[in-house]
Amino acid sequence: MTDTPLRPHARIDLAAYRDNLAALRERAPGRALMAVLKADAYGHGAVPIAREARAAGAEWIGVATPYEALQLRAAGDRGRMLCWLWTPDGPWRETVEADVDITVSAMWALDEVTAAARQAGRTARVQLKADTGLGRNGCQPADWPELTAAARAAEAEGTIQVTGVWSHMACADEPGHPSIEPQIAAFRDAVARAEAAGLRPEVRHLANSPATLSLPETHFDLVRPGIASYGLSPSPELGVPADFGLRPVMTLSAPLALVKHVPAGHGVSYGHHYVTPGDTTLALIPLGYGDGIPRHASGGGPVLVAGKWRTAAGRIAMDQFVVDLGGDAASAGDEAVLFGSGDHGEPTAEDWARAAGTIGYEIVTRISARVPRVYV
Ligand code: PLP
Repeated sequence: MTDTPLRPHARIDLAAYRDNLAALRERAPGRALMAVLKADAYGHGAVPIAREARAAGAEWIGVATPYEALQLRAAGDRGRMLCWLWTPDGPWRETVEADVDITVSAMWALDEVTAAARQAGRTARVQLKADTGLGRNGCQPADWPELTAAARAAEAEGTIQVTGVWSHMACADEPGHPSIEPQIAAFRDAVARAEAAGLRPEVRHLANSPATLSLPETHFDLVRPGIASYGLSPSPELGVPADFGLRPVMTLSAPLALVKHVPAGHGVSYGHHYVTPGDTTLALIPLGYGDGIPRHASGGGPVLVAGKWRTAAGRIAMDQFVVDLGGDAASAGDEAVLFGSGDHGEPTAEDWARAAGTIGYEIVTRISARVPRVYV
């Protein structure tokens, strides 16, 4: 790490991101790839990651909200793009005008998109989402005939074009889960019924990261990996990133802000949940929950300092936390690495996830805007 600033920062390894996309493509040969860039590309920065995804040949970008799609359009992205989180007061006319494919799961949403298309004087590109078992977004099987028939009618009048039919897996990260096969069957059925209604979707898709990595029968026309493209494993049960040729893209580090000697019995941070067991050296890490470091990892979050793993001593505060260096020497300005690829002995986002009782997804996604991203 040479040209990185001496302040807390998240280093984003764009070569690792590109390599991860290539590794994912190998898992789904002949299928299109939708790079999932919601939530600011899982905390990695949507605009630079979009640029990289397109340069690496991603045919599609997927985001949750229409606002995320419009942000990428404003930044100059012109490729195929899908958004999937419907809100009644969404900017649907602008989204239609921006040529973003819009996901529809319900009749009233279809009505709003057709109204937006008429206002815009454009044909809206719509993808219909079926609930095949996730029980979240998506149209229930009982309502699917009405939705597909109405979509076909809107297509016939030129208001919309149905470009896709898709769904989302519930338990693909749990190998052998009994919901997997029924979900795939339900998706096949939803596609068949859409086609029977006269729809001819360009893309049918179901696979998130775990399905892309381990369930080829979910690949259909395109795959939608998110977390794996950022080099994290969707679940420990499936394996570690290296098992799939993936490398973590984000490294979070900070200079030590202060190093000081304290006597035995010194209470550390709010609540004194850590008390120094002997004379020791404390080092201050200038990152806290205001930067997205999970407070739940207090007492356990690992940090590499001077070649050794240390853990957050006492509570993680809004802007800072402390590690106990024992008798070891260190100086203010020395680098502390919270997580990265693990290749240089540092912890990974998954180590933080374990310490905080969460998943790697949340660790990287929550790193806040206060932490500058440095692209290398
Ligand atoms: N597709 C949809 C609709 C999603 O909401 C997500 C994220 O949860 C993904 C794909 C990517 O999932 P993952 O990050 O597990 O690959």
